[in-house]
Amino acid sequence: MAEPAIVIIGAGPAGVRAAATLAKAGRRVVLIDENMRVGGQIYRQPPPGAERAADKLYGFEAAKAVSIHRALDGLAIDYRPETLVWNARGTVLDLTGPRGAERLAFDRLILATGATDRSIPFEGWTLPGVFSLGGAQIALKAQGCAIGRRVVFAGTGPLLPLVAYQYAKAGANVVAVLDTSSFATKLKASPGLLALPKLFAKGVYYLAQLKRRGVPVIEGVEGFAVEGANAPEAISWRRGGETGRIACDAVGAGFGLRSETQLADLLGCGFAFDELTRQWLPMKDADGRASERHIYLAGDGAGIAGADAAELAGERVAWTLLGDLGQAVDAARLVRLDQGLARIARFRRAIEAAYPFPHRFHGAIPDNLIICRCEGVTAGHLRFQVEQREAIEMNRLKAYSRLGMGRCQGRMCASAGAELLSHWREVEPGAVGRLRGQAPVKPVPVAETHPAEAT
Ligand SMILES: Cc1cc2nc3c(=O)[nH]c(=O)nc-3n(C[C@H](O)[C@H](O)[C@H](O)COP(=O)(O)OP(=O)(O)OC[C@H]3O[C@@H](n4cnc5c(N)ncnc54)[C@H](O)[C@@H]3O)c2cc1C
Repeated sequence: MAEPAIVIIGAGPAGVRAAATLAKAGRRVVLIDENMRVGGQIYRQPPPGAERAADKLYGFEAAKAVSIHRALDGLAIDYRPETLVWNARGTVLDLTGPRGAERLAFDRLILATGATDRSIPFEGWTLPGVFSLGGAQIALKAQGCAIGRRVVFAGTGPLLPLVAYQYAKAGANVVAVLDTSSFATKLKASPGLLALPKLFAKGVYYLAQLKRRGVPVIEGVEGFAVEGANAPEAISWRRGGETGRIACDAVGAGFGLRSETQLADLLGCGFAFDELTRQWLPMKDADGRASERHIYLAGDGAGIAGADAAELAGERVAWTLLGDLGQAVDAARLVRLDQGLARIARFRRAIEAAYPFPHRFHGAIPDNLIICRCEGVTAGHLRFQVEQREAIEMNRLKAYSRLGMGRCQGRMCASAGAELLSHWREVEPGAVGRLRGQAPVKPVPVAETHPAEAT
C-alpha cells in the first residue's frame, strides 16, 4: 500500500511536536509554515543574521523555545518555510511560497494554525502607531525594536502584562498599562490559577517587575480612546466615574487571542460556539479528530490553551493519526498527555475568568467608529443594515455592508461585527452565526492563484 501523504500546517509548538512524533515513528511528513523559521508565535525566531541569545528573547521560556527550535534536527521532514496555505478543499491545499504556486494533495492533515490577537475597536484604533499587542511583541522579538518612545499597553489577557514587562525589560519607556480586568476579578479567579502554580507565579512576577520599574498598571479600566491627528499623542481612559489621560506616541492593544480557523472552515469541518471565549471553534473529539475524519486539530487553532498545551496536543494528535493508520500506540503515553491537557484546561478556564473578554465595550461604540478597517465600514453603517434591512445574521450583514470582505477576510473585524450584531439584536453572539470562510485566507498575488495540478 502506498505511504499516506501526511501534511501539517503550522510549525509552532503544536505542529513541531506533531511532526517530530510522526517522523520518529517512521512517517514521511510535509510541514508547512508561512514563517521563515520554526517556533510559531511564542517561540518566534528572528530572521537569520539577527539572532540574539535565547534567554534575552524568551526569558523564562528560553529552554522550551530552544527545545522546539531543535526538535526537528536530524529528522527526515519535508519542511516548507515561508509557504502560505491560502486555500483548502477536500484533500487538496493551495500553497504559495519560494517554490511559487503549488497544489498539494494529502490523505491526512493536521491543522496547527495557532492564533492571532482579538481586537475590539476603540477611538483611534486605526491610527498609525496603534498596534495589536501581538504585533508589538513581534516587533520586539523578531526585529528587536520598540513600537514607540512612550508606549502604552491597553486591553486585557495574560499577554498584556507579559508584553509590557518584555518592553520594560528591553529598556523601552512603558508609560502605562491599562487593563480592563479589575483586581477583584483576578483575585476571584486566583484559586483556579493555582492549578499551575509556576505559571501563576510568572504572572505575579511580571506585574511586580512593572511596579518595581514605576510603570503604572491601572486595572478595571472601563473604556479608552487614543487621541491624535496622524499618530497617537495621548490615551485617555475611564474607570469608576474617574477619567485619566497620559501622553504617548504608540499603543499596543489586545483583548486576548482568537483561533485561526479559516482552513478548518474551508475544509468543511463542523464548528460549535464556545460560550466561555465567545468564539466559534472547529469541533474535535477527545483524540483530536475533526468532524472530517481525515483532519486533525492541535494547539491554539482549535481553542486557546497556550504553548505547553499546544506541545502536548501536537504529540497527542500525531499518536491519534498513527493509531488511525494501524500503527501501535503507547497507551501509557496517551494517558500522560491527556492528564497534562486536562490540567492546563482547568488553568485556562481560570485565565478566562481572570481576564474576561470585555464584550460590553461593544455597547459603547459610537456610530462613526470604523469596525472593518480593510473596507472602511463604520458601526453606523452596520447598524443601518441591522435596523433598516434586517441583517439578522453575520453573512447577510457582510453581504449588505462589506464587513469582512477585505484583505483580512474578517480575521480582525468579524468578532466585533458579531458582538455588535448580538448587542443590537439583544441575543447571544452564538445566535448571529459566523462568517463563512473564503479563500484566499490571506492576500496572495493573483498570478499565484492558478497553480499547477495537485502532486
Ligand atoms: C502574536 C502572539 C504572541 C504571543 N506571545 C506569547 C508569549 O509571549 N507567551 C505565551 O505564553 N504565549 C504567547 N502567545 C500564545 C502562544 O503563542 C500560543 O499559545 C502557542 O504558540 C500556540 O502554539 P501553536 O503551535 O498552536 O500555534 P502558533 O505558535 O501560533 O503556530 C502556528 C503557526 O501556524 C502558521 N500558520 C497559520 N496559518 C497558516 C497558513 N494558512 N499557512 C501557513 N502557515 C500558517 C503560523 O505562521 C504559525 O507559525 C502569543 C500568541 C500570539 C498570537
